[in-house]
Amino acid sequence: MDFNYSTEDEAFRHEFRTWLEANAPAEPMQSLAGGFEQDEEDWKRKLNWYRKLAAAGWTCVDWPTEFDGRGLSLLRTIIYHEELQRFNAPLPFIGSGPSLVGPTLMQWGTEEQKRRFIPKIVSGEEIWCQGYSEPNSGSDLASLQTRAVEDGDYYRINGQKIWTSQAQYADWAFVLCRTDPSAPKHRGVSYLLVDMKTPGITVRPLVQMSGTTGFNEIFFDDVRTPKKLLVGEINNGWQVAITTLMFERGVGGGGQPLIAVVDELVNLAKRIKRDGRPAWDDASVRQRIAQFKCEAEVLRYTNLRQLTRRLRGLPPGAEGSIMKLCATELNLQIELFAKELLGPWSQLEFMAPLAIDEGRWSYRMLSARGGTIAAGTNQIQHNIIGERVLGLPKG
Ligand SMILES: Cc1cc2nc3c(=O)[nH]c(=O)nc-3n(C[C@H](O)[C@H](O)[C@H](O)COP(=O)(O)OP(=O)(O)OC[C@H]3O[C@@H](n4cnc5c(N)ncnc54)[C@H](O)[C@@H]3O)c2cc1C
Repeated sequence: MDFNYSTEDEAFRHEFRTWLEANAPAEPMQSLAGGFEQDEEDWKRKLNWYRKLAAAGWTCVDWPTEFDGRGLSLLRTIIYHEELQRFNAPLPFIGSGPSLVGPTLMQWGTEEQKRRFIPKIVSGEEIWCQGYSEPNSGSDLASLQTRAVEDGDYYRINGQKIWTSQAQYADWAFVLCRTDPSAPKHRGVSYLLVDMKTPGITVRPLVQMSGTTGFNEIFFDDVRTPKKLLVGEINNGWQVAITTLMFERGVGGGGQPLIAVVDELVNLAKRIKRDGRPAWDDASVRQRIAQFKCEAEVLRYTNLRQLTRRLRGLPPGAEGSIMKLCATELNLQIELFAKELLGPWSQLEFMAPLAIDEGRWSYRMLSARGGTIAAGTNQIQHNIIGERVLGLPKG
């Protein structure tokens, strides 16, 4: 592992840092947890930051220039994220366009689909949501029941999706539908793009225990979408869906944001009193926090190991699943410990009067569980690591 950057890479860092010095928002843009916005105002704030970056060509930086990206190498993309983090202004999660459907369309889309959709993903003009999960199809996604049938130049869709993040803001959805019910479940599925303004679509936001409405139910009642918005071939949508999932599981982790949360925890322990003294004076508190710090550092190095593999042109290793599993578990443990430290104060909700740190610890604690479920639950990640990485027999 070589920790040094070349002179050219450092020049690139300088260029982006100079832009950020002039343009980064004054208020920190950190998400409280899980990437979800707290409310509509927070959503607009994040979208505005995304669009400001986009206007200067600083979104989708690793995409090829023909798709309006900058064609940045992996290493420069890392530098780009490091600098955003330094300014407390990470790239906001504005739905599933930049992270999921954009890269999927580059691989599977027709020329017309690429030309129509990709530029507006880069610019943040159009917001996307991911219509995969259904009330009875989450981990076993291939059992999905939403139906699409041919209807002239259209497909007609009936069914329901659930847990659809940002659907209430979305202009478009990519939706997995069953198009051949007689085929085995992984076949007979198709990947359709749907305009969220089409008649027959109802979006119902779901309130989470944190009080936010990050995700939604979507009902499809005779919704028509043009056949030219089929991605990949009819009944071959599972292959396309897997491409999207690979991008989804590659997102997140990193360890760096968790190190920042541990630092915040140290700060909290120094302010919270236990038996009349700062909690930090208690050796058992310091030991727990030191353990979190070690684990966050281990994740950072694991991530760098993954980076080294990819820079050497090797295929992604086991680190992707390990990062998803361990980062979301560690985040949950940190938030639960913060709750212990806060004691009765942890009962005060986000923004409640008198709440310590505006109640953001209780908000994060209530949101942290979601990270262990989203993008394939951690039990499913255990299965993947056991079966595909360690080669253990299937359970
Ligand atoms: C924050 C968040 C955002 C999300 N955003 C979206 C979105 O935008 N679009 C979308 O389509 N979906 C989204 N989801 C849904 C998510 O993909 C599903 O919740 C997830 O795949 C699990 O499915 P499920 O909820 O139906 O649980 P189930 O699959 O019913 O699982 C229930 C429990 O059984 C366990 N289990 C199931 N099968 C196995 C197995 N084979 N081995 C071991 N244990 C198993 C699971 O781990 C879990 O603990 C989101 C979820 C969250 C939490």
